[in-house]
Amino acid sequence: MYDVIVVGAGPAGSVTAAYVAQAGYSVLILERNHSCSSPCAGYVSNTINLELPDDSVIQSNITKMRTYFPDLSFHDFELNGFVVDRSLFDMSLVMKAKELGVEIKWDSGMTGFVSESVKFYGGDARGRIIVGADGVFSRTAQILGLEKQEIAICAQYHMKGIKPISDMSEIFFNVDHAPGGYIWVYPTGEDSAKVGLGLAGSSSPQEKLDTFIKTHHRLNGQKTEYITGALPISGLREKLTFGNVLLVGDSAGMADPITGAGINNAMLAGAIAGNTIIKALENDEISILSEYEIKIKRLLGKPLARSYEKRKKLDACSDNELLKRELPFFWMTFKQYWE
Ligand SMILES: Cc1cc2nc3c(=O)[nH]c(=O)nc-3n(C[C@H](O)[C@H](O)[C@H](O)COP(=O)(O)OP(=O)(O)OC[C@H]3O[C@@H](n4cnc5c(N)ncnc54)[C@H](O)[C@@H]3O)c2cc1C
Repeated sequence: MYDVIVVGAGPAGSVTAAYVAQAGYSVLILERNHSCSSPCAGYVSNTINLELPDDSVIQSNITKMRTYFPDLSFHDFELNGFVVDRSLFDMSLVMKAKELGVEIKWDSGMTGFVSESVKFYGGDARGRIIVGADGVFSRTAQILGLEKQEIAICAQYHMKGIKPISDMSEIFFNVDHAPGGYIWVYPTGEDSAKVGLGLAGSSSPQEKLDTFIKTHHRLNGQKTEYITGALPISGLREKLTFGNVLLVGDSAGMADPITGAGINNAMLAGAIAGNTIIKALENDEISILSEYEIKIKRLLGKPLARSYEKRKKLDACSDNELLKRELPFFWMTFKQYWE
């Protein structure tokens, strides 16, 4: 019997597991894949108090965000963060958890659980507490009977032989190229960048991304890697704790509904989940887990609800004139967003 079984080796799962193991409890992570491979652009903000696992995962430092209106006029904003190699970043978080005593089973997708019994490909295990950190299409949430989340579908190329602006993340809004979403350009080197696009709903974004790249000559180079993936955009789920089960990260709807950023929140929530689990185990009292939901709602409830409202404004922009007028009200680098 493990004290905790964590489903998913993304940032939410690894951070939760590491906190609990550090306090001396037994933790098993079940990961359905062979290694960490969540599709992502890898922008991590350094505005919150979480140390990066290791400098070698950093592809570039970011000091500014440039937001383009549809006519390519722009607005610059200072902010501090990093672009990371997402697979390396996630792997180093898992390895840190492993050093702290966490056991990891790869190729072990969780298929079901009842009370403390968990089934996965290749076996079963028992855990006093179960953490669903299994991402946007969470099997844990499905087994709990929760609703599917609204999603944005994303596509991204890693482009080489192009001219990104160093230290700057570039964000393009244009209803022709990215209706209900935006295009990002995150530098990974002097002549390389991740160029991607996210769209609300389930339409295929690759064609739109190709057209955008063709029409922006500075970004037209060699496509070296293509990824596609989804993220939740309906905001925080109403319930995050279900008896001995917790939801953390994208499974709980913690990605920002308008920016799509979810790594920082996943890690922050992992730390809070970890600390709450330790308290529940120390006191041998599962009902203490409900404190996790209260703390997360206090911290993320309002910001995510506000972003969800802003997302509706973006969705309602049917032409570029309207988008140009409305953009300052729904994008967080403008002061109007905060009024
Ligand atoms: C294209 C794209 C670009 C993005 N860019 C950014 C960005 O630049 N910055 C940012 O902050 N956010 C970004 N995001 C969002 C970010 O990736 C997520 O918010 C973040 O990964 C959430 O972390 P998580 O640990 O909750 O989930 P995940 O990272 O999705 O990890 C979940 C893990 O659970 C595993 N899993 C799933 N089901 C099972 C199962 N049944 N059994 C066992 N394991 C399972 C998965 O394989 C995965 O390893 C992007 C998302 C996409 C799709």
